Amino acid sequence: MVIRLPIVTTQPLPRHTGDRIEDTFGRRVSYLRVSLTDRCNYRCTYCMPEDVTFRPRAELLTFEEIVRLVTVFVELGVRRVRLTGGEPTVRNNVVELTAMLAAIPGLDELVMTTNGHLLAELAGPLAEAGLRGVNVSIDTLDPAQFASLTRRGDLGRVIAGIDAARAAGLEVKLNAVALHGVNDGEVAALCDFAWARGTTVRFIEHMPMSGGQLFAPARELSAAAIRAAVEARYGALAPSPSRDHRGPSRYWHLVEDPAREVGIISAMTEHFCEACNRLRLTASGELHACLGHDDATSLRDVVRAGGSDDDVRAAIGASVHGKRAGHEFQRSGVGGPSKHMVSIGG
Ligand code: SAM
Repeated sequence: MVIRLPIVTTQPLPRHTGDRIEDTFGRRVSYLRVSLTDRCNYRCTYCMPEDVTFRPRAELLTFEEIVRLVTVFVELGVRRVRLTGGEPTVRNNVVELTAMLAAIPGLDELVMTTNGHLLAELAGPLAEAGLRGVNVSIDTLDPAQFASLTRRGDLGRVIAGIDAARAAGLEVKLNAVALHGVNDGEVAALCDFAWARGTTVRFIEHMPMSGGQLFAPARELSAAAIRAAVEARYGALAPSPSRDHRGPSRYWHLVEDPAREVGIISAMTEHFCEACNRLRLTASGELHACLGHDDATSLRDVVRAGGSDDDVRAAIGASVHGKRAGHEFQRSGVGGPSKHMVSIGG
């Protein structure tokens, strides 16, 4: 059954597991990204300014608030939750929180996006707690470039984290923000690195968050340029037949060896808004129906004002109802939200 949620209602809102919510453009919401903290142990240059200020800890949702909200989302049809940040692994007691979330009835898949810095220690406990997989960000295989791009990152630790995640049985994918003049010469090497580990790298086009201030049009590395770089090294690519090509990550495989795939998340040059099925909950409880706009609804305010689960459902309904047709990112760098990516969670 598909349920269209009204903006304002005095009627009880749907609570059955299995119901699904749909926005005014007919897109069903089934995927929620939950930021556990806006703090990060890295300072990636394309993601945040060096002197970024984080929110006071009292503003963050508590574990009980996160579990309550995610439970309501799951009752409304969310099936897949991705933990993000900031850096999710720097949230105190992240393993305990993961176990609490993994136990929510009706949640099919709990996964995480991480910079991998703490994964060597945490991959095993997170897997035991019920985490299914990790997407690890790794933009370059050059240690000096990595240190400079992340402003404090340690490539060796990240690679150890990737290997620990695989050893722990987590499904591992790699993410690389594609930047001309930074890692355009490493497209094939990053593919090789992923394939050697039995995984796939997904290249992400840079998006103009932060009011466009961290964005430079000259650094655009488009989906077409990424495919051309792979083809120059490995020969023709074809769309992977087993994959859903409507989602954010579109997968291609080598015609000569279909087992070797590459993903491209192309919000800028080949956007996928018409198939967007996701919502984003920030660490301080703001619900963003679209990454590309500052529009947000505070679920924390509803909860802390003593709101019932029906009140939470009504607030989620209003947010889904207001989900825009698409982002307004422009390749000139304007049109995005004023928030930094680190404060929404990617
Ligand atoms: N700290 C975690 C990590 O590094 O994966 C999770 C949060 S991070 C904001 C999520 C993803 O967003 C990372 O893969 C990061 O590289 C990517 N990202 C950050 N800023 C971006 C931007 N302006 N455009 C595209 N991707 C971006």
